[in-house]
Amino acid sequence: MSKVALITNISGQDGSYLAELLLKKGYTVHGIIPHNPVLNNKSVSDDLHAGHPEFHIHHFDHTEISNPGRLLALIRPDEIYNLDITSGTVTHATLPGAGISALRMLEAIRSQGLEHTTRYYHASSSALYGLVNGMSINDMVTLNVPSANRVAQISDFWTAVNYRETFGMFACNGILFNHESPRRSESFVTRKITRGLANITQGLEKCLYLGNLNALRDWGHARDYVKMQWLMLQQEKPEDFVIATGIQFTVRQFVTFAALELGIKLRFVGKGIEEKGVIAAIISPVAAALKVGDVIVEVDPRYIRPAEVSKASVNPSKARRQLGWAPETSLQDLVIEMVQADLAFAKKAARL
Ligand code: GDP
Repeated sequence: MSKVALITNISGQDGSYLAELLLKKGYTVHGIIPHNPVLNNKSVSDDLHAGHPEFHIHHFDHTEISNPGRLLALIRPDEIYNLDITSGTVTHATLPGAGISALRMLEAIRSQGLEHTTRYYHASSSALYGLVNGMSINDMVTLNVPSANRVAQISDFWTAVNYRETFGMFACNGILFNHESPRRSESFVTRKITRGLANITQGLEKCLYLGNLNALRDWGHARDYVKMQWLMLQQEKPEDFVIATGIQFTVRQFVTFAALELGIKLRFVGKGIEEKGVIAAIISPVAAALKVGDVIVEVDPRYIRPAEVSKASVNPSKARRQLGWAPETSLQDLVIEMVQADLAFAKKAARL
């Protein structure tokens, strides 16, 4: 009998990669998409797995989401991957779920008598970590609480720990640092950069406007990170893990690598909000329509965050040691994959 997995928020980047991984491993995969009649709920996974006999999508309205027990009774999952992270601003619309996503799912598991058979993964966020006096952080949790969504994430994190310790349930948190891919939303800086620069080479945009170019982030590939999510549920004992590459780059470096992949050598001139990325050389025909001296990156103060979260450098060695996990994709390869995907989109759009 194939294993059954349930993935919440399957419509996002991680949900789609995780579904792909589990289907390859022979799982039957059920995915929940929160139904919102106003938003288009089309999912990345819908597209990727349409027609796959072992792939099932469930559109839930918010009353069903508050009680997933009925679905659990029906599908009796071996593994649940709760990818419902409270992110962005907590509003009246998101408030009903904020901070109780883990509680709802873990209670639903108990109410169906599945607490000794169903394994639970909770997607926790690196935003829980703040820069603590410049310390490098291993697999411990610090309390960095400057926003309502972080309060919610911390509540979910400790709920999973609490159900593990109190009820002996197999519940783990994965604290994932930034993980990107061509499926990343453009609200994140990496995709904004690869899409913006690709558009510039095809004449669709003139300039890319960014915020803090000095911000440091540890960027991995989402495809590598979902493997780790699966591995966490295959251990003998449930534990929490930090998932990161251990290497940080600045936003400016990411821009530089992405531009190079498009055949543009960039030079940064000026400081602070006056800083600009100027074309120093064109080294491939992809960027042939541009000229040396063109300014294609500028700082726009609108994108500078008033309360920037400085993420500490992290040490993912516990994942390496205990689970044999190491990220397979370097930042350079991640940049190449994202740029090439966005270049293909841009070329198509330029032809229309
Ligand atoms: P986050 O780590 O979840 O905040 O991921 P983001 O991709 O949204 O932001 C990563 C870093 O890029 C943060 O430090 C931002 O301040 C910085 N950044 C600089 N310019 C931009 C921008 O135009 N958009 C976004 N989203 N972030 C930017």
